[in-house]
Amino acid sequence: MSGATSTSTAEWLADLHLHTRFSDGTYSPDELASEAARHRLQAVSLTDHDTVEGCPPMAEACARHGIEFIEGCEFTAQASNGVELHILGYYLDIENAKLLSVLSHYQGVRQERIRQMVQRLNEVGVALDADQVFELAGCRSPGRPHIARALVQAGFCATSDEAFDRYLKMHRPAWVPKAKLSVDEAIQLIHQAGGVAVMAHPALNRSDDLIPELASLGLDGLECWHSRHSPSDVDRYRRMADQLRLLVSGGSDCHGMNKGCPLIGGVKIPYPFVERLRERRDLVRSAGS
Ligand code: AMP
Ligand code: ZN
Ligand code: FE
Ligand code: FE
Repeated sequence: MSGATSTSTAEWLADLHLHTRFSDGTYSPDELASEAARHRLQAVSLTDHDTVEGCPPMAEACARHGIEFIEGCEFTAQASNGVELHILGYYLDIENAKLLSVLSHYQGVRQERIRQMVQRLNEVGVALDADQVFELAGCRSPGRPHIARALVQAGFCATSDEAFDRYLKMHRPAWVPKAKLSVDEAIQLIHQAGGVAVMAHPALNRSDDLIPELASLGLDGLECWHSRHSPSDVDRYRRMADQLRLLVSGGSDCHGMNKGCPLIGGVKIPYPFVERLRERRDLVRSAGS
């Protein structure tokens, strides 16, 4: 083994759940790749909400730091019982026409939802303008965190958390439901784009009983490690993955400075799990060709 590469891949670490300004993160791809390098990550995936637009600049920035980059996306989906689930797609062909057309549709849904939510805010006396939100977001895939930041910037709330608590979360005055892909559609979309489908942060959805159904729909993996998973969550999902023959994955879900302190570096998974995902990608692609 050469001196320069004396670390075995078993010691390499990866973070497969990261956001940039292309959705509701605060880092640019350059800033995120620099942070990944600072935390000595060997492989990362960018998983912005309902967009792959940040992937080309992130791939370039990662290449400059010698970091392996995996094209990704976090799809907002809906389970059969109506619960919102997030499905991560890895190794996506980001030029896949069907993928791009579906993402563009759901970006339009997100923009329209911002307008509707701002309208609701206006109805309860909060004089925010949708253009303030769009300007602050500066991306095609805006979300509630952008409305929260606009409310703080305009002085209506002291913090983003207050904005969610008072106005933006479910059952609050400005909340509007969002049209979503079904989980079945999300998994099929990912597979037809040559990718691997992983259920994000299962502990945040409190829908463990849905996981066997997702596995039967073709889900490839479970995100066992996540910033908001406790050690017992990790154990439970690793056991469940084992029983259902699902791969395991993990990431910090860092949104930059959006939620206070950046989470990158807090969750790192051993590189062999990345290799398993890549092998699954090869199987998906050979089955699809
Ligand atoms: P959206 O996709 O527009 O529904 O917004 C979802 C984003 O808002 C996710 O990144 C969440 O992490 C964030 N979010 C959801 N609920 C809250 C909350 N109660 N406080 C702060 N952020 C939240
Ligand atoms: Zn987010
Ligand atoms: Fe999520
Ligand atoms: Fe996320």
